[in-house]
This record gives sequence, C-alpha cells and structure tokens, in this order.
Amino acid sequence: MPTSSLPAPLRGLTKQLNRTITQALGLTEAVTLRRTDPASVDQPLTAGPVLVIGSGPDADAVAHQLHEWHLDVRRNLAAPTQQRWGAVVVVLTDLEAPGQEAERVLALGGTLRELARSARVVTISRAVADGDAPALAAARGGVAGLVRSLGKELRQGATANGIELGADVAVTDPATIGTLRFLLSARSAFVDGQLLPVTAAAQAPADWTRPLTGTVAVVTGAARGIGAETVRVLARDGAHVLGVDVPAAGESLAAVMNEVGGVALQLDITAPDAGARILERVARGPFQGRLDVLVHNAGILRDKLLANMKPEQWESVIAVNLAAQVAITTAVAQAHPGLVQISLASTSGIAGNRGQTNYGFSKSGVIGATQAWAPVLAAGGGRANAVAPGFIETEMTASIPLAQREISRRVSSLGQGGKPVDVAEAVAFLASPQAGGINGAVLRVCGQNLVGR
Ligand code: NAD
Repeated sequence: MPTSSLPAPLRGLTKQLNRTITQALGLTEAVTLRRTDPASVDQPLTAGPVLVIGSGPDADAVAHQLHEWHLDVRRNLAAPTQQRWGAVVVVLTDLEAPGQEAERVLALGGTLRELARSARVVTISRAVADGDAPALAAARGGVAGLVRSLGKELRQGATANGIELGADVAVTDPATIGTLRFLLSARSAFVDGQLLPVTAAAQAPADWTRPLTGTVAVVTGAARGIGAETVRVLARDGAHVLGVDVPAAGESLAAVMNEVGGVALQLDITAPDAGARILERVARGPFQGRLDVLVHNAGILRDKLLANMKPEQWESVIAVNLAAQVAITTAVAQAHPGLVQISLASTSGIAGNRGQTNYGFSKSGVIGATQAWAPVLAAGGGRANAVAPGFIETEMTASIPLAQREISRRVSSLGQGGKPVDVAEAVAFLASPQAGGINGAVLRVCGQNLVGR
C-alpha cells in the first residue's frame, strides 16, 4: 500500500519516522527518480549531455555510438553551460596495471557536483579472466569496488553501474552497446552499484524502441504487482503476451491482459501439467506455436522464524517460487530450445533475511537453477538470467509491518523503495536482443541495498 493511501495520522508518523531514521543513520534523502512511462517509447535517453571520459579507439567508438543515438556528447571535461551532465561514461577497457585508472577516475570525481537528477555514471571495463597477469587482474578487479562505492556516494537519484566485458566482446558489439543503452536510460532507475557481465556477442535489434516485435512472451503471476507491470512493458516493447495466474485472480488477470491485447490463462503453476497447459495455449490463436520469452514471476511469502515454521509454510514457498519454475522450463524448453528465460529471484536470496529461510532458500535456488539453465538454453540460442528485486512497493510488501517497511525503503543508496515498473524494465531488457550478451547473470533491482551486497 503506498504511503499516500494511509490515514493522515499514520502518514504523519511515517514521514517523521523517515526523517528520524535518515538523519540518525546518515542515509540518502529520497528524490523522485526519472522513470520510464510504460505507455511511451519516445522518452529522451538521458537527462542531459553525456560526457565520455577516456581516449583511444574504445572511447572514440562509444562517443560515436552515442552520437548515433542523437545524444549531446562531449569529450571535454568543462561542464556544459547552464546544464548538468545527464551521464558520464568512463572507458577503462585498456587498463593494464593499477595506477592507470587514476587520471580518468579523478576526472570523473571532478564532474560529480555537476550531475543532473537521476544522472548515470557508467564504467566500461574488462572482466578479470583466467590467466590474467596479477597487475592486469588487479587493475580490472578494482573497477567493481569503484562502482559499488561510488553508488553509495551519489545523491539526487544518480546511479553508478558498470559493464564488464568478456575477452571476446568488443566495445562496439551490439551486446555492449545494448547494455550501455539500458544503463544510461530511465529504464534502469532502480539499478545501482553493480557490474553487468557481457560475456558474448549479440545482434542489434531491428528497432531499438520495440526490440521484442513479433515475439511471444509468457509471464506468470501476471494479475498484479511486478507481473502485471512486466506484461505492460513487454507489450510496449512489441511482444504478444500470455499472462498466467491462479483462478482466484482471474478477474484482475483478465483486466491486465485486455489492457495490452494479450491472452489470459488461469492456471496454478504448481499443477503437475502446468508446462503442458502453457504449451497447449501458445500452440493456437495469435501465438501460432511461438514461445520466445518465459518470465517466472509468480511468487509467495510465508514469513516465519525457522523455529516457528510449519511444514505448509516451508513447502508452499518452495513449490511456488522454485519447484514450479524448474518443472515448467523443463517441459517448455524441450519444445522451445532457444527460450529466453528470466526468473524473479530476490536480494533475500543473496543477502539472506530474518524470517525468510523458506523464501531465501527458494530465491537462492532460483539463482542456482538460472546458472544451470544458462548453458543448456544457450546451446539452442537462448539465455537464462535472474532479476533480484530489493524492496519494491507492491501488495506483497504491503503485508510487511510498517516500521520494517520504512527501514527496507531507507537502506538503499537511493533512499526509497522501487516500483514494479523498475523491475519490469529490467526483465524486458533481459528479454530483448540488446541483452543478448548476458547469460547466467543476476541483475539486482534494489537501489543498491546497503544491507548485504
Ligand atoms: P504479488 O504478491 O503482488 O504478485 C504475485 C502474483 O503471483 C499474484 O498475482 C499471485 O496471484 C500470483 N501467484 C501466486 N501463486 C501462484 C501460483 N501458484 N500460480 C500462479 N500464480 C501465482 O508479488 P510481487 O511483489 O509483484 O512479486 C513478484 C515476484 O517478485 C515474486 O516472485 C516475488 O518473490 C519477487 N520479489 C518481489 C519483491 C518485492 O519487494 N515486491 C522483492 C523481491 C522479489
């Protein structure tokens, strides 16, 4: 439940609690983030001019690509008159030893007071690889610490993220450029303090603004929250969507699917024939037997300390959040070996969370399964990735006690909870060809939770 719908006295209490916690802990003051409008494909990519720091062919190639997207690109550190930087891209692909980064990183430091609200800092560097000399590995490995620390220093909704390129991936490859485009845009509003590994080359989408045109996507748990928003964003990006949810949520499921001209399937994903039912539904009607993208979003909470956990509370969470995903993909991937799968994990599955041993097991298991599916689906031309949301404002998290909810909002580098659209945009990015170089990865959408990673 959003704070605005609380009764006035509780709203006042919430505000006061916010202020007290923020001041006492030196946390970030929340600002309105620059987000996408799911109904529009026509938003400017960045909030202002883009500075590219670095020299040499890779930095030139990045600047050239940004020009192609009609951005106002600068190579000169002087801040643009009466404008703030919408983004700063730091190209570090040529680092060979510690110390070589200093000039560029310090130049970046000089721009930070001139960032626009929700500005982006994005590094492009090479991942540490087997056989790297120690000095090379030290320089490359250092970039992650820079990005994670800077994310915690930035204010006003600005974020710091990085792209880590595998040995065979060029800066000019669509896989790199596609990831850069996501990180620069308002689509990554709640992605902060992390490095996205781009490990393979990819094809550019025919249309960057509708990269899923002609594809068929299945989304489970589509009736509300993150699932409903994912349906809207995938449809905006051009996909035909089949939305799945339990019969009890049939009315809201139908409303969401009607909104986007999609199809609703009332189905409990723990049913033994769930995979077969999905296959049967995409075999006919507008889908014509296609199934390109599968989003495992349905999930439940049954929070209890382990000492008090009843068997049903453990078993139902594992069944819905984990076992059903594995069973459905096993059934579906046989018929659609090039499937692009995105599974909803959680930061609770990464950092752990009190009262969530069952949920933590299920979400950590989702990450394990994603890593196992990645090479299997890649063999058929597909991919498997996970999205790990932090605290997102949905009906699921509205059931968390008020004080705990406020703390969950506050302990992120952006000082607030995320919105379903933030997660939906990350899912749609991973579904699209522009993320074709990312496989077996976990993309956190958590505003950089200060607890855990
Ligand atoms: P939500 O409770 O608002 O929506 C979940 C949807 O899944 C509901 O429509 C529900 O009916 C459906 N569902 C539940 N069991 C099902 C079943 N057996 N078969 C078919 N559908 C079923 O949840 P949300 O907040 O939108 O979360 C979506 C996903 O994101 C979940 O996997 C959740 O664990 C994950 N997640 C959410 C948050 C958050 O802060 N909201 C954080 C981390 C991860």
